[in-house]
Amino acid sequence: MITASHATRLSLPGSDWRTLWREAITDAHELLALVGLEYLAGTLPADDAGFSLRVPRGFVARMRIGDPRDPLLLQVLPQLAELEQAPGFMMDAVGDLAAREAQGVLHKYQGRALLIASGSCAVNCRYCFRRHFPYGDEMAAASQWRQALEHVREDTSINELILSGGDPLALATSKLEELSRGLADIPHVTRLRIHTRLPVVLPERVDGPFIDWLKALPMQKVVVMHANHANEFDDSVDEACSRLHGAGATLLNQSVLLKGINDDADILIALSERMFAAGVLPYYLHQLDRVQGAAHFEVADALAQALIELMRNRLPGYLVPKLVREVGGDPSKRPL
Ligand SMILES: *Cc1c(COP(=O)(O)O)cnc(C)c1O
Ligand code: SF4
Repeated sequence: MITASHATRLSLPGSDWRTLWREAITDAHELLALVGLEYLAGTLPADDAGFSLRVPRGFVARMRIGDPRDPLLLQVLPQLAELEQAPGFMMDAVGDLAAREAQGVLHKYQGRALLIASGSCAVNCRYCFRRHFPYGDEMAAASQWRQALEHVREDTSINELILSGGDPLALATSKLEELSRGLADIPHVTRLRIHTRLPVVLPERVDGPFIDWLKALPMQKVVVMHANHANEFDDSVDEACSRLHGAGATLLNQSVLLKGINDDADILIALSERMFAAGVLPYYLHQLDRVQGAAHFEVADALAQALIELMRNRLPGYLVPKLVREVGGDPSKRPL
């Protein structure tokens, strides 16, 4: 496989994650040039629909050169199809606005509260439900955390706190320390879960200070990462996973089923096998949230179910993810 790794590695400034974050590609023409697809410049939308291109160079390095159908490229490259209005595709696709109990906290499911710990991501995935949701406004300032933690403290039915976003690992480790100090006197929270795409798209974030923080947490730790294709894994991702294991975290992965990217049994099987090689178990395979601008990625439920059936016939049960959709008002993700 010829990848963009050579071209991009030359411009990598070092391995400090903040530098790598800042040096992410935000210009579609530059991205196309790095993967040898300059000729596609004319197909770029003039308007990014308010959701800009953003992708770390290390992730670009895993794209195949000269392949306009590359499954990593298609996750991040703005397409004209995003500007089409599709019936049933809405701005707030998962009913989050209704579920917000305290600012920055989503408490929809029994026992679990989800904290919007950060509004930013290292990568902008074109299918993301967040593309129209003003999470940026909720970027957890210390005062908002106090409010969110107050909600968690008062509700003793919450035994698991989920850090989500955006990407909670966008926060400096010192911010995470502040948060874990706030949790220290809430004994009913026995599990901390982190939903993050950074171990995959910017594995350098899983650095020494972060691992020290994770290791020192008194509660059980679960890291749910997000990869959609086996090609997203490389040595740097394996290394990040192994450090997370070393810190005592259980590693799970959630994927989104995406037309033209992973809507194929062989691809999904390869993904399960590859993540398990990195010590990660498949958790959910999501039918995408029906958010405006993502309709061209949608896969029919019948095909999704057939794909899971094929996976079940060819994999051990623990490598078959649960196929789900998020439906506003439901007490859990809805199995399909
Ligand atoms: C998805 C989600 C969770 C976690 O659900 P699990 O089925 O436990 O993974 C919790 N809270 C909210 C608001 C969610 O959207
Ligand atoms: S990393 Fe997750 S939250 Fe961030 S843009 Fe991608 S899908 Fe959305």
